[in-house]
Amino acid sequence: MQITIVGAGVIGLTTAYALEQRGHDVRIVATATGVTTTSDIAGAVWFPYRAGPPDKVAVWAARTRRWLEALAPDRDAGIDLLTGYEITNDEGMAPPTPWWAAAIDVTRAPAPVTGSPLAWKFAAPRVEPARFLPWLAARLRAKVELRTVASLDSEPGDLVINCAGLGARALASDDLLMPLFGQIVLTAPGAVDLSVTVTDHRDPDTIFYVIPRRTELVLGGISRPWPPGLPPDRDPDVSRRILAQAAALGLPVGEVLRERVGLRPYRLEVRLERTGRIVHNYGHGGAGFTLCWGCAEDAAALCEPGTVST
Ligand SMILES: Cc1cc2nc3c(=O)[nH]c(=O)nc-3n(C[C@H](O)[C@H](O)[C@H](O)COP(=O)(O)OP(=O)(O)OC[C@H]3O[C@@H](n4cnc5c(N)ncnc54)[C@H](O)[C@@H]3O)c2cc1C
Repeated sequence: MQITIVGAGVIGLTTAYALEQRGHDVRIVATATGVTTTSDIAGAVWFPYRAGPPDKVAVWAARTRRWLEALAPDRDAGIDLLTGYEITNDEGMAPPTPWWAAAIDVTRAPAPVTGSPLAWKFAAPRVEPARFLPWLAARLRAKVELRTVASLDSEPGDLVINCAGLGARALASDDLLMPLFGQIVLTAPGAVDLSVTVTDHRDPDTIFYVIPRRTELVLGGISRPWPPGLPPDRDPDVSRRILAQAAALGLPVGEVLRERVGLRPYRLEVRLERTGRIVHNYGHGGAGFTLCWGCAEDAAALCEPGTVST
């Protein structure tokens, strides 16, 4: 089958990979690749953050996790297996296992930061987008054609897959897709343990995470509604607050290297469905890397003959 994919972020590239594995003839069309995509900004650690619905997200996340673990031995893919800690409230208030922990092992443990609050401890694949996205693109037979798509219906092919991230708001006339502002501070590693990632989402106004890469740290974060159509704008107060939280947790981070901002393509529920010859695969919020492979496989399944469209 001839299939056109719109979008070359992590969702478009993984969907292309899944389709080529099934023998389809894929074309990829995108306004931008690499550093100008949201995918390039991501942490990008395995953790199902700001994506729904919970039951499907848990399944997509578990499948993606197994895929990332299988790719990790190839160092060039830029995937490393870290130990993750999600700081939680006291033990009495914690549920038996977190909702996102379908099919993975999580245990309770003190977090490796000042104050040692209790945390969920789990194995966390971490992707470096600047290594992984080119690595994946190089494994595709399709090359990305750089141009902006105005209408999904006008694109050639037996099927068209909408992996346009926030661009899907206009392409699919979908007002349910909203930008969520994100900002990260990248620092030198300092004396931080590069094998451990820590997340604290207990207070939505002051979320914090440290995601080590091979040669730098990603410190976050913020998740704030953003006016559709406006580009993201750096907020110096957010970076100051993030660095103060790192210090309060006793993390010996190195000097600040740069800051980055981006807009998560957030939807209450990821849109993964087929309507006629269009398959939608967008709205992965703060979890595009966490869900990419599970969603790519489901999108590919929707391309099989006989699939009923909605
Ligand atoms: C600060 C921050 C931290 C994050 N951390 C994590 C993390 O740790 N773990 C995680 O899993 N996720 C994380 N995310 C979320 C993740 O980045 C997104 O979920 C993911 O990048 C979405 O991928 P995408 O391919 O859908 O969108 P994008 O990367 O935005 O790609 C969209 C593609 O569509 C193209 N496009 C759009 N409109 C058109 C059009 N009209 N015509 C042609 N092409 C078009 C674009 O050019 C681009 O190629 C983070 C996000 C931010 C902002």
